[in-house]
Amino acid sequence: MEVHNVELVMSAVAPEQYPTTGDPEIAFVGRSNVGKSSLTNVLINRKSYARTSSQPGKTQTLNFYHVEDQLYFVDVPGYGYAKVSKKEREKWGQMIETYLTQRDTLKGVISLVDGRHEPTADDQQMYTWLSYYEIPVLVVATKMDKIARGKWNKQLSMVKKTLNILPRDTLVAFSAQTKTGKDEVWDWIEAHTIR
Ligand code: GDP
Repeated sequence: MEVHNVELVMSAVAPEQYPTTGDPEIAFVGRSNVGKSSLTNVLINRKSYARTSSQPGKTQTLNFYHVEDQLYFVDVPGYGYAKVSKKEREKWGQMIETYLTQRDTLKGVISLVDGRHEPTADDQQMYTWLSYYEIPVLVVATKMDKIARGKWNKQLSMVKKTLNILPRDTLVAFSAQTKTGKDEVWDWIEAHTIR
């Protein structure tokens, strides 16, 4: 999709604040610093629309971006940020769980993992949880420009195996620097948001 128009329409903490247009939604989840803002910016051809995180984990709201007035990108606050309190983490968990399990217009989740490393326990838990609820998942391995091409296959196999990615889901190698994987990510989004 060629994107010309993106608008942050809502920062929500509760269902009554979610948008009501009925347009399909794709949510983005991942650890703080994994490259979520960078991926979003590449997808919408912006340099810095989605703020890259100077204060990781600080935004504790679901941010709904209306893309071309036809679908929403939902930025889910990053997990695995050590400095938030237990209470805050529980609040975060509840907000995310409510959204991911009860939102009819949610059509899929893009789950980001750092392509350079083995997925963390948090990454594994998130993927297992999403598959349990049968939510379609696109796993995006980020920062792949930092890995030599010759090592990609091995690295991607490791990610697939560690997360136990199901046949129905997809894994894409991505780099915000070279834009590798951008078209594949868009293809997946379009396939999951056709009305
Ligand atoms: P977020 O916290 O998940 O939104 O992560 P950001 O998009 O802010 O990225 C965190 C850091 O990783 C920043 O310094 C980015 O410049 C860097 N980064 C993100 N994506 C890539 C990538 O594809 N390649 C490289 N080399 N660095 C990246």
